[in-house]
Amino acid sequence: MKDVVRIPPSEHGISEKQICKKARTILNALTKAGYEAYLVGGAVRDLLLNKQPKDFDIATNAHPEQIKQVIPSTRIIGRRFRLAHVHFGREYLEVATFRAPHDKSDKGQVSTDGRIIHDNVYGTVAEDAVRRDFTINALFYDLKTGDILDFVDGMKDIKARQLRLIGDPEIRYREDPVRMLRGIRFMGKLGFSLEPATEAPISELAGLLSKIAPARLFDETLKLFHSGQALVMLDLLRQYHLFACLFPLAEQSFADDETGQFDILVRVALSNTDKRIRAGKPVTPAFLFAVMLWYQVQQGTKYYRKEGNPDLQSVHLAASDTLGFQVKTIAIPRRFSNVTREIWAMQGRFQFKACRRSLKFLTNKRFRAAYDFMCLRARSGEPLEEDCKWWTLLQEVNEEEKLAMCNKEQGSPRRNRSGRRRRRK
Ligand code: ATP
Ligand code: MG
Repeated sequence: MKDVVRIPPSEHGISEKQICKKARTILNALTKAGYEAYLVGGAVRDLLLNKQPKDFDIATNAHPEQIKQVIPSTRIIGRRFRLAHVHFGREYLEVATFRAPHDKSDKGQVSTDGRIIHDNVYGTVAEDAVRRDFTINALFYDLKTGDILDFVDGMKDIKARQLRLIGDPEIRYREDPVRMLRGIRFMGKLGFSLEPATEAPISELAGLLSKIAPARLFDETLKLFHSGQALVMLDLLRQYHLFACLFPLAEQSFADDETGQFDILVRVALSNTDKRIRAGKPVTPAFLFAVMLWYQVQQGTKYYRKEGNPDLQSVHLAASDTLGFQVKTIAIPRRFSNVTREIWAMQGRFQFKACRRSLKFLTNKRFRAAYDFMCLRARSGEPLEEDCKWWTLLQEVNEEEKLAMCNKEQGSPRRNRSGRRRRRK
């Protein structure tokens, strides 16, 4: 193991004031009680890059019970990975005890394919550094001296703006394939590149993601696509053959759709999501899945219609097939997949413009999401531009004008699916 390099504040430029007060309170309390405690991981990395950290994680040699003794507002969580949450009211910071790499003792277990099963062996700060993923995520900030402790040449990689896995890349990806997704996420988020040895095994090992619990892949997928850089993430994931492991049906749709509409739909949607995130507006996972699976649902709907099912039922049957397949890789919680399904099922309602139905539709709590989706489809090239304009206007005008708009439609014959007028019987 390499010796530690101590980098003084004059060289790294992080000042105490940039560290949130709660983190400083914890660091001071633990060091005063005689323990080692450092700020670690994403927070140190982001501060070095002049970015606002998402969270301030702390690592210490105090065991969870000892942390609780020093700071009584601590709650110990997790059975396998025991972690301390130090509470400040409803907010909390995570304080983790230094862990050793899993091979340090037989308590850290590896499955036959190299994945870590248990990872709860306490260690020293140097050991804790090398069990982390990328060198830039393994820097420790010592509040007492202001120094950064670097065991893995992380500072060099920060300066070179590159992501380097600690240790042998193939072994580290096999231990935890999610590290491939984390690599892509940090590339997109920080604009860093992958150091060649870290990059080399990814495409070949991408398939190992099938071993990861779908619930964890749901979390990682949201981190990727709700990062404010979703478009960049999409291209990177596809480039490294990781996208197909998350969204097999969507990857197939890119290949199958000869019109190119699906590609435009996904791009416009992700670019909207990026804008919303950057403007601090809310986004929902339901929309992401509605977009990614739309081509497949359309194909399925066509099939069930041909089989003689009514329109709405056809959409629901196709939705069940598609979502049923998708949740095998990414576990979408029901509260989101139900909304995805509603967005799809409501697409048929935009053709009904007569007063009673359209004004009622406007008040539906999912109207906005379904409307956004319909206009997105219009932008991708589906023949819905007129509908998008009409429903946009309907929301903007006053009550009187609303009635006038739909009264005008009341007389006009309903169009069928292909957009042609229906012949009256
Ligand atoms: P973010 O800004 O997204 O929070 P982060 O680097 O802080 O980025 P976290 O998921 O919060 O990411 O993890 C905190 C730290 O834990 C990481 O910086 C890294 O040192 C370590 N870590 C997280 N996931 C892994 C992993 N799969 N393998 C090894 N170390 C990991
Ligand atoms: Mg973090």
